[in-house]
Amino acid sequence: MNFRNFKMIGYVVYGRGAFNQLDEILQPQRKGTSPMVFLVDHFFEGKELANRVPARGRDQIIYVDVTNEPKTSYVDSIAQRLKDQFGTVSGIVGIGGGSALDLAKAVSLMMNNPGSSADYQGWDLVKNPGVYKVGIPTLSGTGAEVSRTTVLTGPTKKLGMNSDFTPFDQIVLDPQLTSNAPANQRFYTGMDCYIHCIESLAGTYLNEFSKSYGEKALELCREVYVNKHSWDDESDDKLMMASYAGGMSIAYSQVGVAHAVSYGISYLLGTKHGIGNCIVFDHLEEFYPEGVKEFKKMVEIHQIDIPKNICANLTDEQFNKMIDVSLGMKPLWENALGKDWEKQMNRDRLRKLYERF
Ligand code: NAD
Ligand code: ZN
Repeated sequence: MNFRNFKMIGYVVYGRGAFNQLDEILQPQRKGTSPMVFLVDHFFEGKELANRVPARGRDQIIYVDVTNEPKTSYVDSIAQRLKDQFGTVSGIVGIGGGSALDLAKAVSLMMNNPGSSADYQGWDLVKNPGVYKVGIPTLSGTGAEVSRTTVLTGPTKKLGMNSDFTPFDQIVLDPQLTSNAPANQRFYTGMDCYIHCIESLAGTYLNEFSKSYGEKALELCREVYVNKHSWDDESDDKLMMASYAGGMSIAYSQVGVAHAVSYGISYLLGTKHGIGNCIVFDHLEEFYPEGVKEFKKMVEIHQIDIPKNICANLTDEQFNKMIDVSLGMKPLWENALGKDWEKQMNRDRLRKLYERF
């Protein structure tokens, strides 16, 4: 047995208003006149939070377009632009949802690694540590703030740069930053966390480490989405900690069927991770009966729209592409169904599942 020796994030600050400490936190990390670069989710352009970003001297604020999930070409273009303009930078600070956080991690790595980020999609391919990087989530649920990956869509695959160099050096968890999020978006991203917990806790990779985090995160999700029928500050506080704990849970286990299947949909149709997971999970009674029942209840309580019929007009070739991408996620299937997963999940069964969405 070879136990995973995993790298965690460096520093964590948690609390309402913690964002105000950012200037002080960054100060010792500034190297001469090399700028700090803030990659800020474009949602915040012109909003109050943008004025609170502690940019000094040659610092840059770049509003990142997160309409689509991050692409390797986008990461490469931001990193190249910064290298051309400054040579090197003091650090990269990502402020936003999971997409902005992933962009920040990837750009940090590409400041110190040659070639394209597409060369590093996989496990432990990154050669050099990136520049100092900070993650500041404005949506709760993905766990991107704690994970050792950054999910990127490249020319041939949708896969993370999984490495020990990927986790943030610092995260700032300020639940106030999530309070503007629209109910549907907050739900989709929050459900990413719920689904992480269900998949981790039902998986064959489960151990006491991931169980203790997964159970706590699940309890917090239930407090927010099942026991309460309206949203308040306490909900934001809880969901931010649920996201963190859910991320810690999958760090030492793995996700499962919903993620393996929704990756195929995102790759083909560009569907965002949170909403894609919801579309898929809604139909996974055969794998997660209790979780799916509770999920449907939460959808009803919070009156959320889950898109339907997104696979209605696809061609055989498109179905095959989704099936290829999904079956490529071997560790996810193994976690969900066990070592002999290939006996249980085949192209026909998966095709029938995709036809239901
Ligand atoms: P997101 O980052 O894609 O953002 C969704 C939308 O919400 C965007 O339009 C964004 O502008 C907006 N938004 C962000 N914060 C807001 C706020 N406070 N108020 C209003 N609008 C706001 O959404 P997400 O669900 O947080 O992240 C999904 C992404 O995270 C995907 O790209 C996925 O691949 C990635 N992901 C990464 C990991 C990881 O471990 N690295 C894990 C899960 C998901
Ligand atoms: Zn997820």
